Amino acid sequence: MAFDIQNIRDDFPILGQKVNGKPLVYLDNAATTQKPVSVIEAEANVYRTINSNIHRGVHHLSNVCTEVFEDVRQKVKDFINAPSSDEVIFTRGTTESVNLLAASFGETFLNPGDEIILTEMEHHSNIVPWQLLAQRKGVTIKVVPVTDGGELDMQALGEMLNEKTRLISVAHISNVMGTINPVREIVALAHAAEIPVMIDGAQAIHHVPVDVQALDCDFYVFSGHKMYAPTGVGVFYGKRKWLEQMNPYQGGGEMIDKVSFSGTTFNDLPYKFEAGTPNYAGIIGLGAAIDYLKQNHLEEIWNYEHQLFEYALDKMKSVSGIRFVGEAAQHTSVISFLLGNSHPFDVGTLLDKLGFALRTGHHCAQPLMDRFGIPGTVRASFAFYNTKEEVDHLVEALIRVGTMLG
Ligand code: PMP
Repeated sequence: MAFDIQNIRDDFPILGQKVNGKPLVYLDNAATTQKPVSVIEAEANVYRTINSNIHRGVHHLSNVCTEVFEDVRQKVKDFINAPSSDEVIFTRGTTESVNLLAASFGETFLNPGDEIILTEMEHHSNIVPWQLLAQRKGVTIKVVPVTDGGELDMQALGEMLNEKTRLISVAHISNVMGTINPVREIVALAHAAEIPVMIDGAQAIHHVPVDVQALDCDFYVFSGHKMYAPTGVGVFYGKRKWLEQMNPYQGGGEMIDKVSFSGTTFNDLPYKFEAGTPNYAGIIGLGAAIDYLKQNHLEEIWNYEHQLFEYALDKMKSVSGIRFVGEAAQHTSVISFLLGNSHPFDVGTLLDKLGFALRTGHHCAQPLMDRFGIPGTVRASFAFYNTKEEVDHLVEALIRVGTMLG
């Protein structure tokens, strides 16, 4: 490993603090990641030095700010290997990106009786926008079941495809079980029937290589805040052939070409989908996050994280009464579990007293909880600033909590 974990941790000031008198062990990375100083500074420096509304000005500050902002579009394009930066649209996050697709693709292409396919392991933000659309448009939602091991039932998926299917929308990595779905296979299956695929990359973009051309997916969406960037920014990638046909999502400034009361024409890609002033300071922070990840050698980060995940899984098996939810053959970064008959909330609360930040509950995936017949789980989710020592401490704490809760 070329990167020095202590140096990495020093880049994340928040990690050095104590919680309830104990050193913070932050294992809630699937909810949001912490930010390195370079990202914090990049965002703050916008306000210190170049703050000005982008795209519209003739003056110096506006031009500089626009240039730095547009550079990030290039960085994102390179990061996901999109064919063109015109296909990279900035949003508020994964949720807004899915809503954009549901509204624009839905309004343009879907008709009553059409079907879209989701899976039982989707986050609510890849379910509810489609339900709202289904109500508006009379579209049917079909749901791919999840196996006992936490994998997609691919046979069922194959059998669901028919001449009414208009879209498949699926998570790249489950935010509850860490399952890495066979998205390349899904895209191939769908494309054989000329069905487009959206991939929800919220849990994948920072943990595995994402190459939208190799995946050949039609749409790929993710949030900045889960990849060490500021909150309130995200990405919607779409193939040009779809974006050009899709109606705009929201109306407002920047997305227009010419506005008149007799009819308005729209701007070119990507601006057609970027109404209003974006969170340019946050987006510039996203650029800094991409730089930071690249400086620390992405492959080493992914390998380190995966080794840490395997180590944690192995160590946690020694905790008496632990039951994992989802043990897919391909999985990473997220471990969901239950401890004996204890309620996840009680486990999480006691862990908090010991300085551990883990998430408990349904993780915005209630259909998956229903599938397993549980109210929720305790979830440990890892980032590359976590350490084996933290995992060892977690295991000790879980044994202690298990004893306390009987
Ligand atoms: N999809 C998945 C798989 C997620 O894990 C999350 C966040 N937990 C989301 C979508 C929603 O992301 P955001 O709240 O950043 O829009």
